[in-house]
Amino acid sequence: MSKTYRGKGLIKLQSRGRGTCPSCKTRRIKLLYEIILLDGSKLRVCKRCRKKR
Ligand SMILES: [Zn+2]
Repeated sequence: MSKTYRGKGLIKLQSRGRGTCPSCKTRRIKLLYEIILLDGSKLRVCKRCRKKR
């Protein structure tokens, strides 16, 4: 486990770690952060949204 947010690690992810942020609706942004909701489900958001929560 090292630097999964950077470089080659991203290529393995779906869409290379990019997608539409479910929170701010920005498209093709890197969704690098998983936040865990109160019900235990995970949500992948961009770095901007991660700080909001
Ligand atoms: Zn976002």
